[in-house]
Amino acid sequence: MSKPLLRFAPSPNGHLHLGHALSALVTWNAAQSLGGITLLRIEDIDQSRCKPEFTQAIFDDLTWLGLTWPEPVLIQSERFDLYAEAANRLRAMDLIYPCFCSRTEIAEASTSVDPDGAPLYPGTCRHLSNATRIARLERGDPVQFRLDTEAALARTGMLTFTVIGPTLHDRPQIRHARPERWGDVVLQRKDTPTSYHLSVVVDDAAQHITHVTRGRDLEAATDIHVLLQMLLGLPTPFYHFHRLLLGDDGQKLAKSKGSQSLSDLRALGWTPDDVRRAVGF
Ligand code: GLU
Repeated sequence: MSKPLLRFAPSPNGHLHLGHALSALVTWNAAQSLGGITLLRIEDIDQSRCKPEFTQAIFDDLTWLGLTWPEPVLIQSERFDLYAEAANRLRAMDLIYPCFCSRTEIAEASTSVDPDGAPLYPGTCRHLSNATRIARLERGDPVQFRLDTEAALARTGMLTFTVIGPTLHDRPQIRHARPERWGDVVLQRKDTPTSYHLSVVVDDAAQHITHVTRGRDLEAATDIHVLLQMLLGLPTPFYHFHRLLLGDDGQKLAKSKGSQSLSDLRALGWTPDDVRRAVGF
Protein backbone atom coordinates (compact mmCIF):
# COMPACT_ATOMS: atom_id res chain seq x y z
CA MET A 1 0.00 0.00 0.00
CA SER A 2 1.24 3.52 -0.74
CA LYS A 3 2.01 5.94 2.07
CA PRO A 4 -0.64 8.21 3.59
CA LEU A 5 -0.41 11.72 2.12
CA LEU A 6 -1.49 14.83 4.04
CA ARG A 7 -1.26 18.47 3.11
CA PHE A 8 -0.86 21.88 4.69
CA ALA A 9 -2.56 24.44 2.47
CA PRO A 10 -2.22 28.03 3.68
CA SER A 11 -3.25 31.12 1.72
CA PRO A 12 -0.48 33.72 1.33
CA ASN A 13 -2.75 36.69 2.04
CA GLY A 14 -0.91 37.64 5.22
CA HIS A 15 1.63 36.26 7.65
CA LEU A 16 1.06 32.96 9.44
CA HIS A 17 -0.02 33.25 13.08
CA LEU A 18 -0.31 30.80 15.98
CA GLY A 19 -3.53 29.32 14.54
CA HIS A 20 -1.63 28.30 11.42
CA ALA A 21 1.19 26.93 13.55
CA LEU A 22 -1.35 24.72 15.34
CA SER A 23 -2.78 23.52 12.03
CA ALA A 24 0.68 22.83 10.61
CA LEU A 25 1.80 20.94 13.73
CA VAL A 26 -1.40 18.86 13.79
CA THR A 27 -0.81 17.94 10.16
CA TRP A 28 2.89 17.07 10.40
CA ASN A 29 2.27 15.12 13.63
CA ALA A 30 -0.59 13.22 12.05
CA ALA A 31 1.59 12.36 9.06
CA GLN A 32 4.26 11.10 11.40
CA SER A 33 1.89 8.97 13.43
CA LEU A 34 0.35 7.50 10.25
CA GLY A 35 3.76 6.86 8.69
CA GLY A 36 2.93 9.34 5.93
CA ILE A 37 4.17 12.57 4.35
CA THR A 38 2.90 16.15 4.47
CA LEU A 39 2.81 18.05 1.18
CA LEU A 40 2.68 21.82 0.99
CA ARG A 41 0.18 23.67 -1.15
CA ILE A 42 -0.06 27.42 -1.61
CA GLU A 43 -3.71 28.44 -1.99
CA ASP A 44 -3.27 31.74 -3.81
CA ILE A 45 -6.25 31.86 -6.17
CA ASP A 46 -7.27 35.26 -4.80
CA GLN A 47 -4.66 37.22 -6.71
CA SER A 48 -5.88 40.55 -5.33
CA ARG A 49 -4.99 39.56 -1.76
CA CYS A 50 -2.15 37.03 -2.11
CA LYS A 51 1.44 38.24 -2.39
CA PRO A 52 4.71 36.44 -3.24
CA GLU A 53 6.36 37.83 -0.11
CA PHE A 54 3.75 36.07 2.03
CA THR A 55 4.48 32.82 0.19
CA GLN A 56 8.17 33.23 0.95
CA ALA A 57 7.29 33.99 4.58
CA ILE A 58 5.30 30.72 4.76
CA PHE A 59 8.39 28.77 3.62
CA ASP A 60 10.55 30.65 6.16
CA ASP A 61 8.13 30.20 9.09
CA LEU A 62 7.61 26.49 8.47
CA THR A 63 11.34 25.91 8.10
CA TRP A 64 11.93 27.81 11.34
CA LEU A 65 9.38 25.53 13.05
CA GLY A 66 11.48 22.58 11.87
CA LEU A 67 8.90 21.29 9.35
CA THR A 68 9.93 19.92 5.97
CA TRP A 69 8.06 18.96 2.80
CA PRO A 70 8.90 17.44 -0.54
CA GLU A 71 9.34 19.69 -3.59
CA PRO A 72 7.77 20.85 -5.80
CA VAL A 73 5.22 22.82 -3.80
CA LEU A 74 1.86 22.97 -5.53
CA ILE A 75 0.96 26.61 -6.34
CA GLN A 76 -2.72 27.06 -7.13
CA SER A 77 -2.30 30.22 -9.22
CA GLU A 78 -0.41 28.11 -11.77
CA ARG A 79 -3.37 25.79 -12.20
CA PHE A 80 -6.33 27.97 -13.21
CA ASP A 81 -6.76 25.99 -16.45
CA LEU A 82 -7.31 22.76 -14.53
CA TYR A 83 -9.95 24.31 -12.29
CA ALA A 84 -11.71 25.80 -15.31
CA GLU A 85 -11.68 22.35 -16.90
CA ALA A 86 -13.33 20.84 -13.80
CA ALA A 87 -15.96 23.61 -13.86
CA ASN A 88 -16.59 22.88 -17.53
CA ARG A 89 -17.26 19.25 -16.71
CA LEU A 90 -19.93 20.37 -14.25
CA ARG A 91 -21.25 22.79 -16.87
CA ALA A 92 -21.54 19.94 -19.36
CA MET A 93 -23.71 18.14 -16.76
CA ASP A 94 -25.89 21.26 -16.63
CA LEU A 95 -25.02 21.82 -12.97
CA ILE A 96 -23.60 25.35 -13.22
CA TYR A 97 -25.52 28.52 -13.97
CA PRO A 98 -24.65 32.22 -14.19
CA CYS A 99 -25.82 34.45 -11.35
CA PHE A 100 -26.03 38.21 -11.78
CA CYS A 101 -27.11 39.14 -8.23
CA SER A 102 -25.14 41.67 -6.22
CA ARG A 103 -24.27 41.08 -2.58
CA THR A 104 -26.92 43.61 -1.55
CA GLU A 105 -29.62 41.94 -3.67
CA ILE A 106 -28.79 38.58 -2.11
CA ALA A 107 -28.85 39.99 1.42
CA GLU A 108 -32.25 41.59 0.75
CA ALA A 109 -33.82 38.50 -0.82
CA SER A 110 -32.34 35.92 1.54
CA THR A 111 -34.47 34.45 4.32
CA SER A 112 -31.87 32.29 6.08
CA VAL A 113 -28.14 31.93 6.61
CA ASP A 114 -25.51 29.38 5.58
CA PRO A 115 -23.33 27.53 8.14
CA ASP A 116 -20.88 30.46 8.14
CA GLY A 117 -23.69 32.87 9.00
CA ALA A 118 -23.76 34.55 5.56
CA PRO A 119 -27.10 35.17 3.80
CA LEU A 120 -28.13 31.97 2.05
CA TYR A 121 -28.44 32.53 -1.70
CA PRO A 122 -32.17 32.30 -2.47
CA GLY A 123 -31.71 30.83 -5.96
CA THR A 124 -32.83 33.99 -7.79
CA CYS A 125 -30.95 33.31 -11.06
CA ARG A 126 -31.44 29.54 -11.11
CA HIS A 127 -34.49 29.76 -13.32
CA LEU A 128 -33.52 32.56 -15.70
CA SER A 129 -34.26 31.71 -19.31
CA ASN A 130 -31.38 30.87 -21.61
CA ALA A 131 -32.16 33.94 -23.68
CA THR A 132 -31.84 36.20 -20.62
CA ARG A 133 -28.61 34.50 -19.57
CA ILE A 134 -27.07 34.95 -23.00
CA ALA A 135 -28.21 38.56 -23.28
CA ARG A 136 -26.82 39.48 -19.86
CA LEU A 137 -23.54 37.67 -20.47
CA GLU A 138 -23.15 39.41 -23.83
CA ARG A 139 -23.90 42.75 -22.20
CA GLY A 140 -20.99 42.09 -19.82
CA ASP A 141 -23.08 42.22 -16.60
CA PRO A 142 -21.10 41.25 -13.49
CA VAL A 143 -21.48 37.50 -13.14
CA GLN A 144 -20.50 34.58 -10.96
CA PHE A 145 -21.20 30.93 -11.65
CA ARG A 146 -23.04 28.82 -9.11
CA LEU A 147 -23.53 25.12 -8.57
CA ASP A 148 -27.15 23.97 -8.81
CA THR A 149 -26.88 22.06 -5.55
CA GLU A 150 -30.33 20.53 -5.68
CA ALA A 151 -29.79 19.18 -9.22
CA ALA A 152 -26.35 17.96 -8.17
CA LEU A 153 -27.78 16.07 -5.20
CA ALA A 154 -30.46 14.56 -7.41
CA ARG A 155 -27.61 12.98 -9.36
CA THR A 156 -25.51 11.78 -6.45
CA GLY A 157 -28.11 10.78 -3.88
CA MET A 158 -27.11 10.66 -0.21
CA LEU A 159 -23.45 11.39 0.48
CA THR A 160 -21.24 10.21 3.31
CA PHE A 161 -17.62 10.65 4.31
CA THR A 162 -15.36 9.36 7.05
CA VAL A 163 -14.18 11.50 9.93
CA ILE A 164 -11.36 10.53 12.26
CA GLY A 165 -11.42 12.30 15.59
CA PRO A 166 -11.34 13.94 18.06
CA THR A 167 -7.88 12.29 18.10
CA LEU A 168 -6.33 10.34 15.27
CA HIS A 169 -6.53 7.19 17.36
CA ASP A 170 -10.31 7.32 17.62
CA ARG A 171 -12.46 4.97 15.64
CA PRO A 172 -13.49 6.47 12.25
CA GLN A 173 -17.08 7.70 12.07
CA ILE A 174 -19.25 7.82 8.98
CA ARG A 175 -20.79 11.26 8.56
CA HIS A 176 -23.71 12.27 6.37
CA ALA A 177 -22.84 15.28 4.16
CA ARG A 178 -25.48 18.00 3.91
CA PRO A 179 -24.36 20.34 1.12
CA GLU A 180 -27.91 21.65 0.75
CA ARG A 181 -27.37 23.82 3.84
CA TRP A 182 -24.96 25.94 1.73
CA GLY A 183 -27.42 26.48 -1.12
CA ASP A 184 -26.03 27.16 -4.59
CA VAL A 185 -22.38 27.95 -3.83
CA VAL A 186 -20.22 30.07 -6.13
CA LEU A 187 -17.73 27.96 -8.09
CA GLN A 188 -16.35 30.60 -10.46
CA ARG A 189 -16.14 34.37 -10.25
CA LYS A 190 -15.87 36.81 -13.07
CA ASP A 191 -12.14 37.39 -12.62
CA THR A 192 -11.23 34.06 -11.03
CA PRO A 193 -12.12 30.90 -12.94
CA THR A 194 -12.37 28.96 -9.69
CA SER A 195 -13.31 29.16 -6.01
CA TYR A 196 -11.85 27.74 -2.83
CA HIS A 197 -14.27 24.79 -2.99
CA LEU A 198 -13.44 23.79 -6.54
CA SER A 199 -9.67 24.19 -6.36
CA VAL A 200 -9.34 22.40 -3.01
CA VAL A 201 -11.20 19.38 -4.36
CA VAL A 202 -9.26 19.28 -7.65
CA ASP A 203 -5.94 19.57 -5.81
CA ASP A 204 -6.62 17.11 -2.99
CA ALA A 205 -7.20 14.58 -5.77
CA ALA A 206 -4.24 15.75 -7.88
CA GLN A 207 -1.93 15.42 -4.87
CA HIS A 208 -3.44 12.02 -3.94
CA ILE A 209 -4.24 13.29 -0.44
CA THR A 210 -5.50 10.44 1.74
CA HIS A 211 -6.13 12.41 4.98
CA VAL A 212 -7.27 16.04 5.14
CA THR A 213 -6.55 17.75 8.45
CA ARG A 214 -8.22 21.12 8.79
CA GLY A 215 -9.66 23.37 11.48
CA ARG A 216 -13.22 22.98 12.70
CA ASP A 217 -14.04 26.26 10.95
CA LEU A 218 -13.88 24.31 7.66
CA GLU A 219 -15.83 21.31 8.92
CA ALA A 220 -19.17 22.34 7.38
CA ALA A 221 -17.55 23.29 4.04
CA THR A 222 -16.43 19.68 3.71
CA ASP A 223 -20.03 18.80 2.77
CA ILE A 224 -19.62 20.75 -0.48
CA HIS A 225 -16.26 19.15 -1.14
CA VAL A 226 -17.71 15.66 -0.82
CA LEU A 227 -20.46 16.60 -3.28
CA LEU A 228 -17.94 17.99 -5.79
CA GLN A 229 -15.74 14.90 -5.44
CA MET A 230 -18.66 12.66 -6.22
CA LEU A 231 -19.73 14.74 -9.25
CA LEU A 232 -16.20 14.89 -10.64
CA GLY A 233 -15.45 11.23 -9.96
CA LEU A 234 -12.67 12.05 -7.47
CA PRO A 235 -11.86 10.06 -4.32
CA THR A 236 -12.98 11.32 -0.92
CA PRO A 237 -10.12 11.38 1.61
CA PHE A 238 -10.50 10.80 5.35
CA TYR A 239 -11.10 14.02 7.30
CA HIS A 240 -9.83 15.13 10.69
CA PHE A 241 -11.07 18.44 12.12
CA HIS A 242 -8.83 19.99 14.72
CA ARG A 243 -9.56 22.47 17.50
CA LEU A 244 -9.11 26.17 16.84
CA LEU A 245 -7.08 28.65 18.81
CA LEU A 246 -9.28 31.41 20.12
CA GLY A 247 -8.20 34.96 20.88
CA ASP A 248 -9.12 36.92 24.02
CA ASP A 249 -12.40 37.88 22.31
CA GLY A 250 -13.40 34.20 22.03
CA GLN A 251 -13.14 34.37 18.23
CA LYS A 252 -10.71 32.35 16.14
CA LEU A 253 -7.38 34.01 15.40
CA ALA A 254 -7.32 35.77 12.04
CA LYS A 255 -4.82 37.63 9.95
CA SER A 256 -7.47 40.27 9.29
CA LYS A 257 -7.78 40.95 13.03
CA GLY A 258 -4.05 41.57 13.29
CA SER A 259 -3.21 38.43 15.31
CA GLN A 260 0.49 38.42 16.09
CA SER A 261 2.40 36.72 13.30
CA LEU A 262 4.99 34.00 13.78
CA SER A 263 7.61 36.37 12.38
CA ASP A 264 6.66 39.01 14.99
CA LEU A 265 6.96 36.39 17.72
CA ARG A 266 10.33 35.28 16.33
CA ALA A 267 11.54 38.90 16.39
CA LEU A 268 10.41 39.08 20.04
CA GLY A 269 12.74 36.18 20.83
CA TRP A 270 10.26 33.28 20.75
CA THR A 271 11.74 29.88 19.88
CA PRO A 272 9.99 27.11 17.91
CA ASP A 273 9.51 25.33 21.26
CA ASP A 274 7.75 28.39 22.66
CA VAL A 275 5.36 28.23 19.70
CA ARG A 276 4.74 24.51 20.25
CA ARG A 277 3.97 25.11 23.92
CA ALA A 278 1.73 28.09 23.16
CA VAL A 279 -0.45 25.98 20.84
CA GLY A 280 -0.55 23.01 23.19
CA PHE A 281 2.03 20.64 21.70
N1 GLU B 1 -6.44 27.46 2.44
C1 GLU B 1 -7.33 27.20 3.53
C2 GLU B 1 -7.04 28.17 4.66
O1 GLU B 1 -5.97 28.76 4.69
C3 GLU B 1 -7.24 25.79 4.10
C4 GLU B 1 -7.39 24.73 3.09
C5 GLU B 1 -8.22 23.52 3.52
O2 GLU B 1 -7.96 22.85 4.52
O3 GLU B 1 -9.11 23.21 2.79
O4 GLU B 1 -7.88 28.34 5.50
